[in-house]
Amino acid sequence: MYTPHRGRLGAIAKGVRKARSRFGGRLEPFFRLDLVLYEGRGDLLTVTSAETIAAHPRLREHAAALDGAARACEAVARIFDDGEPHAGVYNLLANELALLDAEPERAGRANALAFRLKLLLAAGFAPQLAACASCGDRDHVVGFSGAAGGVVCGACEANAFPLDEDSHAFMVAALGRSLAEAPEAEPRALAQAERAILETLEHHAHLRLRPVGTGPSGASRDSLTSRAR
Ligand SMILES: [Zn+2]
Repeated sequence: MYTPHRGRLGAIAKGVRKARSRFGGRLEPFFRLDLVLYEGRGDLLTVTSAETIAAHPRLREHAAALDGAARACEAVARIFDDGEPHAGVYNLLANELALLDAEPERAGRANALAFRLKLLLAAGFAPQLAACASCGDRDHVVGFSGAAGGVVCGACEANAFPLDEDSHAFMVAALGRSLAEAPEAEPRALAQAERAILETLEHHAHLRLRPVGTGPSGASRDSLTSRAR
């Protein structure tokens, strides 16, 4: 599970598979829950009660939204794996799941990339987008360099890949607006934005996330609650 006050936690829920379990099917992926946990001596906490805050039922009926939710949880689990509290990340993930439930048709590459950009910001790895990350030039930005940590000008473009204006604009808008108001963009611009995000994570967090464009994941292991089962 991912929690606002303690980050990522593992817990067990006893008797959850019984037909008359007191948890009543609430300990499922993508539920937002109010849990009471007992902390003993072991690594795992024990769930003693679970109340549903949001079950997100519509999200489950829409394959792309379900996939988007799984990828959002996976990205959080990969980037914030240390049990450190991060209320901003919790709220961002809760917002993303609520958005995918309210408007499942919004699921897709633009939404997934906007979410990842905001995660980078929360993790302190937000790419420098306002001016060349190497020399500060604001007027001649032509590429993106994960090593430099953002956009770069023509004079500093070693190790950079070309970044179109559309891609740059998408990233600026995605970081500047709420998830619900995140922009759309052409596939080419989204592909460049995705590469910028991947290279930023590789250079600064030594992480490689699954591309957002590949097929459904089907995996729920890194979801909000599945570790509690
Ligand atoms: Zn420069």
